[in-house]
Amino acid sequence: MVDLDRQILHIDMDAFYASIEQRDNPKYKGKPVIVGGISSRGVVCTASYEARKYGVHSAMPTKVAKKLCPNGIFLPVNMDKYKRVSRQIHEILYKYTDKIEPISIDEAFLDVTGKNSLFIAKDIKRDIQKEVNLTASIGISINKFLAKLASDLKKPNGLTIIRKEEVVNFLKPLPVSKLWGVGPKMERELSKLGIYYIGDIQRYDKDVLITLFGKRGKEIYDFSFGIDSRPVEVNIINQSIGEEETFKEDINNPKLLIDKLRLYSINLANKLVSKGYLARTITVKIKYDDFSIETRSITLNIPTNDERVIFHTGKQILLNKFKSEKNVRLVGLTLSNLIYPDDPIQLSMKI
Ligand SMILES: [Mg+2]
Repeated sequence: MVDLDRQILHIDMDAFYASIEQRDNPKYKGKPVIVGGISSRGVVCTASYEARKYGVHSAMPTKVAKKLCPNGIFLPVNMDKYKRVSRQIHEILYKYTDKIEPISIDEAFLDVTGKNSLFIAKDIKRDIQKEVNLTASIGISINKFLAKLASDLKKPNGLTIIRKEEVVNFLKPLPVSKLWGVGPKMERELSKLGIYYIGDIQRYDKDVLITLFGKRGKEIYDFSFGIDSRPVEVNIINQSIGEEETFKEDINNPKLLIDKLRLYSINLANKLVSKGYLARTITVKIKYDDFSIETRSITLNIPTNDERVIFHTGKQILLNKFKSEKNVRLVGLTLSNLIYPDDPIQLSMKI
């Protein structure tokens, strides 16, 4: 297969929710604005750059943020407004290409292969500034992994290119956590092998990594050289599928919840296969006996229709992301970010 160089853009809005609030309330300009859950168990969604100087960051409990930044302006999430702005931004992006993969409310990949990616990136930044009065950071490179890495290098209002010929040297000194999908757990595993930097992986034996980590090992090895053939997925289906059950009696035994997740995973994987879809985001929902609801998600690097992957991910979410000893009334599992691949077989072989 001839692998022509691609031109991929990663667009990432800067401190999206906080910037919108600062835009709409001039008195918040230049101040530490923290948007998130304001209840006692709430978490920070977005902190303005002024608030980040105090060490406040997203996913931090609001309680902690209040301690770090007592003079911060704490605002509730106005999701309807942020979605409206997100749609405006997408309209801007569609002027340049329809090869767009939305990743979240404020991030997207664009495939502009064959066009002048630098001109397009500059024009997009200018249009976003002019039409919605916000700044975006854009990364340009030959694939999704590198484009995303690039957009993160000079925030806010950045524009960064990682060129093909500089990829290997560019990656070498970066910590392994910069590799797509290397979380704290994988980081620990790699550190046991004396691997701390991406350059350490570049020098490591590929077969050993595959023996130790299977498919993930190959993926990490390829990423360490900046190789990533995942396409920009334009066929994202705006729907989700899920299953949930309210129990006759409240449950406080994780094993029973895990059994439920296993059953849901089988049913949902069957649904995916029958429709020809792959899913990328897996969400577990819990309703407690006091009727409060919590949801936690993981977005996979590689979309899947495999019941084992769905179950394993759901179980991981349940065990690692929920910390309550409370009784559970309901557990649910939802798959979203569904993709209808042009060629599902080819997609799975690319990985
Ligand atoms: Mg962002």
